Amino acid sequence: MLTTAETDRYRRRLLSLRRRLVVDVSELEPEAIRPVGGDSSGDLSDVPLHSADPASDEHEEQVDVSLLQNESQLLTEVNDALDRIERGTFGRCENCGREISKERLDALPYARYCIRCARKFQADNAS
Ligand SMILES: [Zn+2]
Repeated sequence: MLTTAETDRYRRRLLSLRRRLVVDVSELEPEAIRPVGGDSSGDLSDVPLHSADPASDEHEEQVDVSLLQNESQLLTEVNDALDRIERGTFGRCENCGREISKERLDALPYARYCIRCARKFQADNAS
């Protein structure tokens, strides 16, 4: 089980991640999401936001769209994770109900599924 302090730490990371995402998404599509005010700065240096994949010029437009989709999707994941914290279900796999490992939550605080289920889904999608 996650302690209150641990949950709180993930909440702070999720909130600062969300602030950054909201800014990014609104820059790409100004009318999509209105930035929310916030002044505290979170340390995001350890959050793997992008799997660095430099865009080539000829596909720039396409990349922008997929970037927006990814970030919008990520924003949804982050919001859902914050919602789970509020409901007290954060840290549990939505598929099997097992606890998500802290290592996984440290890497992906918005992780919805445990590593087993995530791998299973990935395998299903790959086929
Ligand atoms: Zn699971």
